[in-house]
Amino acid sequence: MNFGIAIHGGAGTILRSSMTEEKEQQYTTALKAALHIGYAILEKGGSSVDAVESAIISLEDCLLFNAGKGAVFNNKGAHEMDASIMNGKDLSAGAVSLIKNVKNPVSLSRAVMEKSEHVFLCGEGAEEFAKKINLPFETDEYFDDAFRFEQWQQAKEADGTFLDHNVQTQGDKKFGTVGAVALDINGNLAAGTSTGGMTNKKFGRVGDSPIIGAGTYANNNTCAISCTGHGELFIRSVVAYDISALMEYKSLSLKEACNEVVMKKLVAIGGEGGLIAIDKNGNIELPFNSEGMYRAMKSSNGKELIAIYK
Ligand code: ASP
Repeated sequence: MNFGIAIHGGAGTILRSSMTEEKEQQYTTALKAALHIGYAILEKGGSSVDAVESAIISLEDCLLFNAGKGAVFNNKGAHEMDASIMNGKDLSAGAVSLIKNVKNPVSLSRAVMEKSEHVFLCGEGAEEFAKKINLPFETDEYFDDAFRFEQWQQAKEADGTFLDHNVQTQGDKKFGTVGAVALDINGNLAAGTSTGGMTNKKFGRVGDSPIIGAGTYANNNTCAISCTGHGELFIRSVVAYDISALMEYKSLSLKEACNEVVMKKLVAIGGEGGLIAIDKNGNIELPFNSEGMYRAMKSSNGKELIAIYK
């Protein structure tokens, strides 16, 4: 039985020209660490849900990515985070949105899946649940990052008056959300996604990442998907479920389904971004229509890849 894992650290306008060698090295190292944490679990016969959660925790704990520590600022200067996870074995799922101060949002989404009778908890209710089950919390400062703060100032300015500036900010667009998908040795698929959302988003805004079927989906009969990109467009395209449905109802291969949704359907409405996907046979696809996507994969067939640009 094949097994494997793929992870992402966000998509967007990621140009080699705007990257230093040092920064690139940092990203590569962080991706590799998360990938190997997840893969080691699968290799030992662990579950895809465990592999996905552990890989995402590693990325959430890293300041480089827009999830957990290092999450972006919303228009009120706060970090409101979203996350979700899905188990392809029984289609159980958990999601949280608009949560603050929870150290690892993905773990809270898993707890919603496994320890509550609900699928989706938001805001204070989600935080209260996290406290009840003793998940770790952190101060606001823990999530702060000087670079993200600067991004927020630029975005605020752009929103205000300067159209030209707006264009420039858009040129810098980077969606640093994180995600993981995995197939374990027992043929079970899982997917998870975690994010701080988009810089300067309106407080209360929810993106695609916590929405089952939009940003995250897993079904043992088809595939596991985690998305990153301009959330509003991913919600409208129901991206993650659409790929699964094309495989289930139209018998498309994973590659064909990804191409249809990421390169055609999303592009047609200006939906910039990408996703990571693994099917029930362990085939992995990492498509994106943006300049770049932080991504990595490792499969029991010996293939390993860590990449940023096209
Ligand atoms: N999809 C996320 C959102 O819209 C952003 C990202 O992928 O970085 O919230």
